Amino acid sequence: MKEIFDNWKKHSKEDYDENLNYLKSLRGNKSIDQSAAELDKTVFAKVDCLQCANCCKSTPAMVTRPDAKRIAKHLGLSSKAFIKKYLLEDYDGSLMINGVPCTFLNVDNTCQIYEVRPEACREYPHTAQFGFHRRSRMNAQNTLICPATYEIVKRLKAIHV
Ligand code: SF4
Ligand code: SF4
Repeated sequence: MKEIFDNWKKHSKEDYDENLNYLKSLRGNKSIDQSAAELDKTVFAKVDCLQCANCCKSTPAMVTRPDAKRIAKHLGLSSKAFIKKYLLEDYDGSLMINGVPCTFLNVDNTCQIYEVRPEACREYPHTAQFGFHRRSRMNAQNTLICPATYEIVKRLKAIHV
């Protein structure tokens, strides 16, 4: 864990352009999805997200309407009251949590609404999901936020030159 985290901290910014260009070069190569999913499993077996929580600390979590309904029910609020208190609405109607670091992040990096957290949080950083090869910009952006993503891309570059 420490090595992955230190390496990310030291190199992710300087490697960003190279990573973005590499990830762009993978577009259309569907076989990459399988490699990324396998690396996701290997890398996350070594990473303890509770020692990191950088995603929760640095980016506002996207919340769908079904997410909002589920979390509101969990908190004993109406959807309307939950949205008003905890979410921001973008110009296109999309919703996100109104605090960075996230309003629901505890000091020990646990999540106050873990059981009902938004799908986007559940699926982050999406490295095991179908379509990895297409999401070059998002994956590159995530190398700056997520040590595990940086490591997955680093290992991917060693396999698929
Ligand atoms: S809802 Fe929970 S998992 Fe999602 S960003 Fe906030 S603290 Fe993290
Ligand atoms: S940024 Fe990545 S490694 Fe850190 S907590 Fe989030 S998913 Fe886990």
